[in-house]
Amino acid sequence: MSSFRVRLTLILIAMIGLSVLVAGLLMGKTIKDNHIEALQDSMVRESRIVLDQMDWRQGEPSQLYGYYTDKAQHLKQITDMRFTFIRGDGVVLGDSDHDPKTMDNHSQRIEVLDAKQSGVGRAIRHSATLNINLLYVAMLAHPGDPQSDIIRLAVSLKQVDEGIERIWMALIIGLLVLFAAAALISYRIARGLTRPLEEITRVAKRIKNMDYKARVEVQSSDEIGELGLAINAMADGLQVQMSRIHQNESQLASVLDNMIDGIVMIDGSGSVVLLNRFAGEVLGFSSQEVAGRHYGELKQQYELQQLIKDGLERRERLHEELTFYFPEERLLDLNLVPIFEEGGEFGGVLLVLQDVTAIRRLERMRSEFVANVSHELKTPVAAVKGFAETLLGGAVDDPETARSFLQIIFDESDRLNRLIGDILELAKIESRRVPMRYSPVELTSFTGKTLELMSAEAARKHIRLSMKVEPGLFVEADEDRLRQIVMNLLANGISYTPEGGSVTIKAEPVPIPGAEGTEDYDQIRISISDTGIGIPKKDLPRIFERFYRVDKARSRSSGGTGLGLSIVKHLVELHGGSISVDSTVGIGSTFTIELPVLQ
Ligand code: ADP
Repeated sequence: MSSFRVRLTLILIAMIGLSVLVAGLLMGKTIKDNHIEALQDSMVRESRIVLDQMDWRQGEPSQLYGYYTDKAQHLKQITDMRFTFIRGDGVVLGDSDHDPKTMDNHSQRIEVLDAKQSGVGRAIRHSATLNINLLYVAMLAHPGDPQSDIIRLAVSLKQVDEGIERIWMALIIGLLVLFAAAALISYRIARGLTRPLEEITRVAKRIKNMDYKARVEVQSSDEIGELGLAINAMADGLQVQMSRIHQNESQLASVLDNMIDGIVMIDGSGSVVLLNRFAGEVLGFSSQEVAGRHYGELKQQYELQQLIKDGLERRERLHEELTFYFPEERLLDLNLVPIFEEGGEFGGVLLVLQDVTAIRRLERMRSEFVANVSHELKTPVAAVKGFAETLLGGAVDDPETARSFLQIIFDESDRLNRLIGDILELAKIESRRVPMRYSPVELTSFTGKTLELMSAEAARKHIRLSMKVEPGLFVEADEDRLRQIVMNLLANGISYTPEGGSVTIKAEPVPIPGAEGTEDYDQIRISISDTGIGIPKKDLPRIFERFYRVDKARSRSSGGTGLGLSIVKHLVELHGGSISVDSTVGIGSTFTIELPVLQ
């Protein structure tokens, strides 16, 4: 139970108790007063009656005692009141309860003094002899004469007191009952008042502890109900705001984590405040590992630490490219930006890491390619120029020499033409400018036709061409490009195989892993094998590079440009397939391509 409820209950009980007590006291007093007044009135009336009938005798007190005492005793018998007859000077002449001779002078009794003044006197006095309160009423026998005899009536207030006591008892019991009822009612009222307040307090505490789902059950439309509604509205607002904040936070976190750049935030004191996933990957840490720790603990890279240190000291933009060797080799472009908070206070630095490994590699390849192309073009151009010069210098007059020189010029310009053609072709494929035109290709007839195109070339070198294609095999491909692939590989096979050898093309479905033994396949495999000179192991990984040749002289004599396999690889990849090579020097080579059946 809350202390507020206890206090409220006590206050209510005290208030009710106090008012009941005051009411009781007033009531008791009024009842007593009324009682005594009624008694006095009736005593005054009776006195008057007695006085009216009274025959006052004069004389020596000793002669009068008997008469007045009898009278008093007689009257007491009738009225059950004490009667006293007093002479004007205070001498008691007769008394119903005592011997008048033994009684002292009564002139100074309050009721007697009163009676002498106003005709009737009253007093309430405790009688030591009887140990009770007595009510006295005295009256002059002859009103207006201060020396008049006096009659005095006395009655015990014992009955009155007893009656009052009974009333008091009843009053106290009633009060207690009332008090208990009041306490109960007060408690219920207090509970009714405090319970909603307690509920509201509980809800407010839950909200304080970030439980924004807590709501007050509003049961009344009074001020407390309104307070409940206000608290609920506040909780609604908080909930909406918090969910917005959470949403923003998670959006920001997912943006940061999915960025392909690394972000590291370091505060003014050098503690890592934030590190996104990519930065963690690059630096070899997880964000939980380093959050809150000093950048000096990023031990892996000395130059990086130096850069951060510089940034924190100089508070200006810094840029650097660094090679990282851990966890893998990467070339990173680092941008360090100082953060200035509102008010221009320095808040630390933001480090943006960009992986430029691929970009730099591409740039290098581009420039190498340009150098290679220039070099490749220079050779035939130099040959054409040289022989043309010799012809101009006079060799033209010798028909024999002129003819052979012109043949060389023709061959070289033809090579130049082919080279330029291949370079353009490669550029076209790489830029993906020309869209693929897919159609179903039936492999038996396709292979047959392609072999036919190559048969003249093969026949010239006495090389046997053969095919092993499973009937009914289809593949969805750009037929012209597929032919370009196969012809390139066949041409290589023929040119790198000595006379009398053979070149074989095979086509078959690739079994789906886990579904072997069934007819299902989603890829086909085309392999072209020869019995030629083969390719040394060390050259195998590089033969698909542009202008890469195992033996420059031989390639040139066979009319190769060094771009054929490069073009083949690109075309295969455009089809979503892959190419691999297997070769043994002196025995032969096998190029295998795997293509998806459906695009
Ligand atoms: P090239 O025009 O010189 O033939 P390619 O790109 O077609 O250029 O081939 C690159 C190099 O790979 C060739 O110079 C050659 O040394 C080697 N090569 C290609 N195919 C074969 C093969 N079937 N047998 C042996 N070597 C081959």
